[in-house]
Amino acid sequence: MIFRSLTRRKEIGANSYLIEIGKYRIILDAGAHPKQKGLDSLPNFNSVPHDSVNAIIITHAHHDHIGALPVLQRRQPKASVIMTEPTGEVGSAMLHNSVNVMSKQREELGINEYPLFTHRELDEIRANWVYRDIQKTFLLPNSEIECTFFDAGHIIGSVGVMLRHQGKTVFYSGDVNFEAQTITREADFPTEGIDALIIETTRGDYQRPEGFSRREEKERMAKLIRETFDQNGSVLIPVFALGKSQELMMMLHELRQMDLIPAAPVIIGGLSTKLTVLYDHYASRVRRSYEGFRILEDMSTLVAPRKRKKEIQYNQHTIYALSSGMMSEGTISNQFASLRFLDNPRNSVAFVGYTDPETPGYRLRQAKLGDKVKLDSKMPEVELKCRVESFDFSAHATREQIVDYVRKVNAPKVLLVHGDAPAQAWFSKTLAIEAPQSEIIQPEPEIQIPLF
Ligand SMILES: [Zn+2]
Ligand SMILES: [Zn+2]
Repeated sequence: MIFRSLTRRKEIGANSYLIEIGKYRIILDAGAHPKQKGLDSLPNFNSVPHDSVNAIIITHAHHDHIGALPVLQRRQPKASVIMTEPTGEVGSAMLHNSVNVMSKQREELGINEYPLFTHRELDEIRANWVYRDIQKTFLLPNSEIECTFFDAGHIIGSVGVMLRHQGKTVFYSGDVNFEAQTITREADFPTEGIDALIIETTRGDYQRPEGFSRREEKERMAKLIRETFDQNGSVLIPVFALGKSQELMMMLHELRQMDLIPAAPVIIGGLSTKLTVLYDHYASRVRRSYEGFRILEDMSTLVAPRKRKKEIQYNQHTIYALSSGMMSEGTISNQFASLRFLDNPRNSVAFVGYTDPETPGYRLRQAKLGDKVKLDSKMPEVELKCRVESFDFSAHATREQIVDYVRKVNAPKVLLVHGDAPAQAWFSKTLAIEAPQSEIIQPEPEIQIPLF
């Protein structure tokens, strides 16, 4: 079994990995890079011969794991695409949204290759999609290779993937969280009999503060909301539409039930509504907390647009949970912040997830009161007059939890993926001491690595 990274760089971006077992080819994930544009945002699919892949496995529906799937399927028309049903259905909504975003960018930024695929193509490629459940071993098409999905605890439908062939086993984590969020439960990963482990390293560069607890973090956010409402302001929470949005709404519902925040309207954006419909659709059919709870019906304070989005109005005593989480240019969280929010000292902004250093969200997070912040290249700077706070509600395992898992698995080979260079460097150094039995590998793009 041979592994080859199809990413263009060592980073969190367009995830895609090739596994070759003799002539049989499997591709794990087909992501698109959120920051790169055009063809540069795709993995390096050119190095895989046309129409030679047998199976494509998608771990979950985030853009950096599924965003390039239609392009890959065009090049590999006979490949079966295997994933959980929520990943397929949520992924389809995400990819249709990508078509709209790319079409807009074609006009605004003049990227001629956009859109990289069309709505119609998305409907056609579904003919090759195959849905499989967690914890049920199946054979990959026309092979003797066994495959099993394990709940990864990251977002709805997310899995880690085990492949077993001739007594040898490789396990790919995808994105994983080993602790429960609000809806999503902790990962349920195997630890026995793994010969090669391919593991994400997202948070290798982040040290969680001593004494951190998720409960206290939630209470700290409730306090920010109370204090903001006491001075007649509103709270803006920039949030990823998929996963973080639904976790946040459930968390706000919890805080309301506990009487830690007052009843107040929670406004969400259009894509979040679409994805929440799917979370609700699977409310009783996936492994999760609050089984059967339907956010759109059961959360009394939620204001979700069911039709085409109108301009969002500013009101006092309101929580705005708007995407994108990094406040990328052109998104509603960015526009709303610059037009009606940051210059009002009564308001607060709460960050609840990762912001890449090159994004407007990161710049806002770093800014101090009175600073001028540039959120949009075509708009004037805005003076920051409101409060800005950050909270750790990550959907990724901490680095210590990953190290623990690697130690438990004790695999002869461990491959580090899905991490920036400093994150991977921390894991390499730490695992050399903590997991001395394992060979720790940082796969270079395009280099073949024999697994066993
Ligand atoms: Zn993810
Ligand atoms: Zn990811």
